[in-house]
Amino acid sequence: HAEVAIQLALVKEKELNQIKSRFVSVVSHEFRNPLNAILFSTELLERYDSELSSEKKQEYLQRIQLSVRRMDQLLRDVLTIGETESGDLPFNPQPLDLLQFCQDLIEELQVSRSLNCPIHLTHKNADFVTSEDLSFPCLDENLLRHILDNLLSNAIKYSPQGKNIEFNLTYNKEAVVFQIQDYGIGIPIADQPRLFDSFYRASNVKTISGTGLGLSIVKQCVDLHGGTIAVISEVEKGTIFTVTLPLQHC
Ligand code: ADP
Repeated sequence: HAEVAIQLALVKEKELNQIKSRFVSVVSHEFRNPLNAILFSTELLERYDSELSSEKKQEYLQRIQLSVRRMDQLLRDVLTIGETESGDLPFNPQPLDLLQFCQDLIEELQVSRSLNCPIHLTHKNADFVTSEDLSFPCLDENLLRHILDNLLSNAIKYSPQGKNIEFNLTYNKEAVVFQIQDYGIGIPIADQPRLFDSFYRASNVKTISGTGLGLSIVKQCVDLHGGTIAVISEVEKGTIFTVTLPLQHC
């Protein structure tokens, strides 16, 4: 028995080490692109200061800003994945002004992306009751931010520039349902079952950078709410992610 236990522990340790080195290699690779972009742009700005037109300077500054935001997002993902895996991600549901929250999030996203896809928010109160609780559902703001930020950012990232993103919000007595639909590259059927695994990326995104960590974070945050997430997608037509979060009592 002892020998089997030792063997199992060794296999587990080997697996953990493989995950760790995969993690380090994916994350450092993803950091390198924005870092290089910053270095390149600052060097050009410094060296050719007097020759560059003000439009060009503006363009390099925007590139720097975009890269810094990308690194910030990556760092947040890395910290969050650490917290979810150690079980340290807190779940603190509080009454939330949901519509305002979604509007603010959309505004932040539209400002921070220079390559834009317009996000259209629609909302409906599915069954009526004009209870205060429904306009202020009890949700964890931090977790909800991870969920919606990742899904909306992906919708933008995997859509051609200028394509609309539909963001639909429905609530009823039992749950809040978020639906994010894009008209982008879609996800091959064969890849769909593994989308929420850490590091998993579909076969049609090789030329678009990413870590494959976002959706696994989303799934953990949905699970903490006791909710569900589903995907419907067709290659070159688009994707719909549906998140259903049951209403908690605060
Ligand atoms: P990534 O950093 O690669 O975007 P995610 O975990 O957020 O990682 O997503 C995992 C994979 O799911 C992506 O690599 C991509 O293949 C696919 N995916 C997620 N959202 C979309 C979308 N809206 N349209 C097309 N593919 C998507």
